[in-house]
Amino acid sequence: MAYTYDDQNIFAKILRGEIPNRTVIETEHTLAFDDIAPQAPHHVLVIPKGFYVTADHFAAEASEAEIVDFWRTFGSICADLGVSPDAGDGYRIIANSGRHGVQDVPHFHLHILAGRPLGRMLK
Ligand code: IMP
Repeated sequence: MAYTYDDQNIFAKILRGEIPNRTVIETEHTLAFDDIAPQAPHHVLVIPKGFYVTADHFAAEASEAEIVDFWRTFGSICADLGVSPDAGDGYRIIANSGRHGVQDVPHFHLHILAGRPLGRMLK
């Protein structure tokens, strides 16, 4: 895979502590923080600490430990927010990837949106 990681992207700066963030949870391999321009009452971004550009880059090159940590962290956020459909009203996850995916920040991130009916639009 030929991804080139831009270490000047805003999430890289957040990971280096150069830009503040409202941390939701931090683990060994994963950081989650509130989106600066929330599109729903809950709008959390989940990112791996490793330097992966997109979801497929992460899937192909992250270690199993990173992948497990990422998805377990995602699950714990849903539980903490009370949005899991088995107990709450549900949520949407989005990973905009590349040009057609309209990805603005080139560090893989999962949007978690919840807290209101989200309609059928994807973005
Ligand atoms: P994308 O279009 O999927 O790349 O979305 C990038 C997201 O990052 C957008 O929802 C922005 O509001 C969000 N964002 C940009 N800068 C910051 C920041 O400094 N803190 C938190 N979220 C940010």
